[in-house]
Amino acid sequence: MSVQVAVNGYGTIGKRVADAVTLQPDMELLGVAKTSPNHEADLAVENGYPLYAAVEERVELFDEAGIELAGEVEELVAAADVVVDACPSGIGAENRSLYEAHDTPAIYQGGEDADIVDVSFVARANYGAATGADHVRVVSCNTTGLSRLLAPLEEAYGVEKARVTLVRRGGDPAQTGRGPINDILPNPVSLPSHHGPDVNTIFPDLDIDTLGLKVPATLMHTHSVNVTLEASPDAADVVNLLDEGDRTFLIPPEHGIDGAGALKEYAMDRGRPRADIWENCIWGESITVEDDDLYLFQAVHQESDVVPENIDAIRAVTGTADAAESVARTNETLGVGF
Ligand code: NAD
Repeated sequence: MSVQVAVNGYGTIGKRVADAVTLQPDMELLGVAKTSPNHEADLAVENGYPLYAAVEERVELFDEAGIELAGEVEELVAAADVVVDACPSGIGAENRSLYEAHDTPAIYQGGEDADIVDVSFVARANYGAATGADHVRVVSCNTTGLSRLLAPLEEAYGVEKARVTLVRRGGDPAQTGRGPINDILPNPVSLPSHHGPDVNTIFPDLDIDTLGLKVPATLMHTHSVNVTLEASPDAADVVNLLDEGDRTFLIPPEHGIDGAGALKEYAMDRGRPRADIWENCIWGESITVEDDDLYLFQAVHQESDVVPENIDAIRAVTGTADAAESVARTNETLGVGF
């Protein structure tokens, strides 16, 4: 019997997770809940996704827009085996009591505080910790990207200290409210940025300092990474190690991909839905080891790297597959791994 999945909050992350759920042989998308009758709501109905009103007072807005509703969010949550909450930051915490009232396990996103959940989640690092949990948080795009990188490094060499400068996109392509912009902001101006402590929700003992900058770009985040290892591997060994993972993509030098714009073009050429890039994109030529210090650049696509993680979190929470099975199934159905 398929796991019945509800998606509450149908925006940038929610619509991607909903589409990904429909590709899983062991899951069924029971419905999606939304607050506004915009073009995404229109498409959800066109796709055959039962659409529920997330806020009772807004039902009439859907009626006025001629968009057919299947009901209200409470019915959806009550009927689901698990709900993925992809509401704006902070709303997930407000929704928690709704999920508890119906005894429906919930998966939240990285904009929520870690202390509202039992477990923060990255499949590569701590899948098992979410098994059977009622409240799980798929960490942010940046924390997901850093954790996927640090997990194999920690296992293979041991990490003494990680130092990361995150060059962050100013907004997502459709976030017009964040622009027009032309600036470069230390963000936050004081150290650390929230990303290091967030990585510590996945690796509690890891020594990591992070700094953040925001730039006027919408395509991807870029990380400048320095990891002091407990061993001194050859750069070629690190390349091989990171090349082995399906969710770490070593950009082949001969592809001539020199930035986030070229990466997005690559994703479009490869027919990726919404030009999504689920993998960490690591420039192989940047991988340098000086004594025990590793340096590299990677880019992460903020709108999509957490999507496979949400699918794995659904299986972890419902106990329907172990880590290896789930990750393999998610990768295969989505087409993760260039
Ligand atoms: P978004 O604004 O694109 O989408 C959120 C959706 O939720 C919107 O459609 C909004 O109308 C709807 N909504 C608002 N209030 C609601 C309510 N009470 N009930 C149901 N739906 C409601 O936001 P997003 O970018 O998809 O972010 C969602 C979460 O994912 C946040 O926690 C965010 O931090 C996290 N996240 C975002 C990104 C990213 O780059 N966009 C990356 C990783 C994680």
